[in-house]
Amino acid sequence: MPLKIIVFSARSYDREFLSRANLDGICTFHFTEANLKRDTAIMAGGFQAVCCFVNDDLSAGVMEDLSAEGVKLVLLRCTGFNNVDLEAAERLGITVMRVAKYSPYSVAEFAVGLMLSLNRKIHRAYNRVREENFLLDGLMGFDMQGKTAGVLGTGKIGAIVGRILSLGFGMKVLSYDIKENPAVKKYGGTYVTVEQLMKNSDIVTLHLPLTPQTHHLIDAKMLSIMKQGAMLINTSRGAIIDTKALIQSLKNRQLGAAALDVYEEEGDIFYKNLSEQIIDDEVFLLLLTFPNVIVTGHQAYFTKEALTHIAQTTVKNVKDFLAGRTNENILFAREVIKQA
Ligand code: NAD
Repeated sequence: MPLKIIVFSARSYDREFLSRANLDGICTFHFTEANLKRDTAIMAGGFQAVCCFVNDDLSAGVMEDLSAEGVKLVLLRCTGFNNVDLEAAERLGITVMRVAKYSPYSVAEFAVGLMLSLNRKIHRAYNRVREENFLLDGLMGFDMQGKTAGVLGTGKIGAIVGRILSLGFGMKVLSYDIKENPAVKKYGGTYVTVEQLMKNSDIVTLHLPLTPQTHHLIDAKMLSIMKQGAMLINTSRGAIIDTKALIQSLKNRQLGAAALDVYEEEGDIFYKNLSEQIIDDEVFLLLLTFPNVIVTGHQAYFTKEALTHIAQTTVKNVKDFLAGRTNENILFAREVIKQA
């Protein structure tokens, strides 16, 4: 019997890639664009599993609602699990599986793309040229070669970013992590304290998971010790940066530029077409007014390869769950403690 799964926050591409990965029909997918939250958990009635994404709410209350509907399995179509209450899941006997690994190149290459766009003002040049304005004033950037990059978090994604910047651009790469990755030394990166990294980097790029320890790690104090005019890139999770402090630092001309693929209150904004609506989030609206800020809608992962892998791993997770096999994608409550 195929497992009946309701896929929340499903866009056309989720439907396409998950359906294609479901070769032997082990899953019956029901797709909905609705986000999972307390109001929508009732939609899980009659399904044994829910399949969720980064902005779905899997807090204790929602877990209880899902359990009451008979859900036994939560399938995350992502790596990060900061939106999941794993203790509640464990208590309720719900298995949570994620996609621990999928093309880290997708995110790493996007982060480097943001650096280049922000530095060389490609986004502004694109608009200017469309208006037949070919002036270069205001578009000046800097050579990345010889400058210093700071990589916060040197796991799968951060280590690739470090390698691209070191070997590809000839940058000096400073790194910070609670656990050293031997790959970093191979491309010439060095580990320093987080303060040393912030003080000495021309570009700081974040590749940490969101945990209680990394929540608002980049706060007013951290921003104040950065080199004046430095650039900050965030493709990890929005709440690692205190956005209000970031805006203040931009206003003070301390931070030179920021590119954000993630935003701490993105749940009500990203993956939706709001072009006909009024956005109430004033902090977000203010961010959009800065000429030296690029915001993208949590798209760093969005490549063909990543979506293929996410869909295939999700279907494999279902197979392993049905066969009672454990795999690296099962999340236990103790993971939270391990990450701390
Ligand atoms: P990873 O687990 O391979 O690497 C994370 C690194 O952070 C690890 O080396 C870990 O030791 C380190 N770390 C954890 N807590 C820390 C702390 N308190 N201080 C310092 N270092 C700490 O993860 P990854 O695959 O490289 O992904 C990194 C993050 O990128 C994910 O957690 C996710 O939030 C984000 N992400 C974003 C997108 C996107 O589309 N924007 C896509 C995938 C992942």
